[in-house]
Amino acid sequence: MSDQQTAGEAGWNLDNSYARLPESFYTRMKPSPVRAPKLTILNEPVAAMLGLNADALRTDAALAVFAGNEVPEGAAPLAQAYAGHQFGYFNMLGDGRALLISEQITPEGERFDIQLKGSGPTPYSRSGDGRAALGPMLREYIISEAMHALGIPTTRSLAVVTTGQSIIRESELQGAILTRVAASHLRVGTFQYAAAKGHVDELRELADYTTRRHYAEIANDENRYLALLQEVIKRQASLIANWMLVGFIHGVMNTDNMAISGETIDYGPCAFMDVYSLDTVFSSIDREARYAYGNQPKIAVWNLARFAETLLPLLHSDEEQAVKLAEEALGKFAELYHGHWLAGMRAKLGLFGEEAEDEKLIEELLRLMQQQGADYTNTFRALTFGRLDEIVMSCSADFAAWLELWQSRLGRQTESPEASHQLMRSSNPAVIPRNHRVEEALAAAEQRGDFSVMEELLTVLSNPFAHSPEQEAYAELPSQNGRPYRTYCGT
Ligand code: AMP
Ligand code: MG
Repeated sequence: MSDQQTAGEAGWNLDNSYARLPESFYTRMKPSPVRAPKLTILNEPVAAMLGLNADALRTDAALAVFAGNEVPEGAAPLAQAYAGHQFGYFNMLGDGRALLISEQITPEGERFDIQLKGSGPTPYSRSGDGRAALGPMLREYIISEAMHALGIPTTRSLAVVTTGQSIIRESELQGAILTRVAASHLRVGTFQYAAAKGHVDELRELADYTTRRHYAEIANDENRYLALLQEVIKRQASLIANWMLVGFIHGVMNTDNMAISGETIDYGPCAFMDVYSLDTVFSSIDREARYAYGNQPKIAVWNLARFAETLLPLLHSDEEQAVKLAEEALGKFAELYHGHWLAGMRAKLGLFGEEAEDEKLIEELLRLMQQQGADYTNTFRALTFGRLDEIVMSCSADFAAWLELWQSRLGRQTESPEASHQLMRSSNPAVIPRNHRVEEALAAAEQRGDFSVMEELLTVLSNPFAHSPEQEAYAELPSQNGRPYRTYCGT
């Protein structure tokens, strides 16, 4: 059987729309072959969503595709060009270790990028080796799947293969390649690249392409470029609110890591917060805490301002007018974001309707959580199930006062306590991918070739609102100095 036939059986239905953009946006090239690839994990639900046959994806022919040793029939692989502000500094970047293999058209007619990450050097690699290590690729797989299960827009992961080749970092690590699936890999940085090149025609082509691909409903708007900016702002406001509501810290909100589609992209030093604190930072290279938890909405606006700048020549022929339109659009972010956040927080507290004092009630709870070092996820989980003894600040007088206010607010609504409980159950996850659990799964996979720990974690994370008994253990915090983390009144 030829590879092409087998690839056909897998169900690839490919198109290459990005490759029809002007040539400056990419470099056509194939992935670099690897010696001894092995499939470590395959995402069957994602395969099904793409219209791919999971059995065929477990064959050697499909492995060759995931490893970059073959490309499926009809694919036109390329490395995408893009720029970006990294920690505030502008750089020309581009896919230094990734390749857009092609775009899969699903049976529903949706289009998804199929990208290999870790597939070898490209003209944009600068001094990098173009490769990725197993740990970080599995990490991206776990956290992106957890985000999806939480209902937050995100890129997905179809497969991770090891390459059979080691890569050199601080130590020697197993090389791996992630097959990433995304609505697209268009980034704020893609627009920055086009703007930096200075060809307005190409910028317009990019904007039109983006609109067709992600915002078809505005394609005929009078000022469709302004509409594009407004829609991107809307999706980001919703996305960042979602992150904040689950305690997700992206870690590297560089403009090349902000997707125009509104999906979460690039799971590098990201993490979910344990103890609630606005200052939480996970990235060790983020020394100035630019991307701390509480800064994320501000950084999103900053990134969106960089996006708006790139669109200025398209917004209006008069620069002053263009700037005015961009500023007006950016000025809406705060309100949009706040609306999503407030609605989400009300749901987390089981509140229906709106009362003027709701925001104060929410802020006071968060203040107490921060002051007393309460775990973010577990506090809301405990409130959902009335397990107040599990809440760190349960013996504080301020908390008792808060509880009274919350309960009287609940008492004033006409919805039943059961409806309120259901709202909380479906708004407060039982589990998040806690760092120590993720690390444990990665260590088993990397050190012992044991993927069962990760599989189990993925199962638990796949239904975060189930509140099932098996999830209990995964809600626990890491022990500190051998003692369980949980603290009770009087201890
Ligand atoms: P990332 O955080 O993986 O998106 O990386 C930021 C930029 O550096 C991207 O443009 C990557 O393509 C590039 N990059 C990261 N790691 C490597 C590597 N090992 N080799 C080449 N380029 C890389
Ligand atoms: Mg990136």
